[in-house]
Amino acid sequence: MHAQFHVARVWMAVEDWLNPTLRLTTPERALYYHLVRVSHLLGHRTAYISRRRMAAITGLSTATARFYLRVLARKRCIRFLSRGRRGTRVEVYLPDEIARRWARLPRAERLAFAPQSPARDAAGQPRAWQRTDLIYTFEFRTRILRREAGRCFYCLRRLQRNEWTLDHVVPLARGGSDRADNLVACCAVCNWSKGLLTAEDFLHQLVRKKVLPRSHLRSRLRALARLGKRHPDAGPAG
Ligand SMILES: [Zn+2]
Repeated sequence: MHAQFHVARVWMAVEDWLNPTLRLTTPERALYYHLVRVSHLLGHRTAYISRRRMAAITGLSTATARFYLRVLARKRCIRFLSRGRRGTRVEVYLPDEIARRWARLPRAERLAFAPQSPARDAAGQPRAWQRTDLIYTFEFRTRILRREAGRCFYCLRRLQRNEWTLDHVVPLARGGSDRADNLVACCAVCNWSKGLLTAEDFLHQLVRKKVLPRSHLRSRLRALARLGKRHPDAGPAG
């Protein structure tokens, strides 16, 4: 067992980071929780799972359940090792390890991971930022959120757990980096409406739209200027 394995920490990371960023479906979650239960909670990294068990856990046919197990592997939550009489043997990764596995992928491959769905997901959020979020660990995201004192960097709205995003101040498409000095915590609405505007233009726009009180503009612009100078103690995972 890893020295630093804490059930509560893993559980929170699954709920707050893994499920929303990888958009695990209900059968995928059921399988993942079961696999963590029979591996890490017992002090192992690997587990066997039979087709019958998969079906029982998900309430689906064996073929469909097996399909979701393959999706979990494709989302890099598990890795297939072998198949035998006892079932399929898999290595089970914890959330931090999953983030690191994603971070090691070449960018093109990370971005190519696009489950077949429309350009916006059910919550109306563009998929692009969610995909890039995949490379950050739970700890990294939490650190950025704390730096912003739990508020949206742009509109200062208080952010709810699970309802916030990381925004690249200078978009990746314009050569911005993946590091903490180019990332801020913000609400989904700001992330979505900022688009390719510069952060400065976007702040001015928020004031014009009366989303951000004019009296806060100067402090926001100062926070923006400070960002680049602040030494980011850590880059993304990996
Ligand atoms: Zn906002």
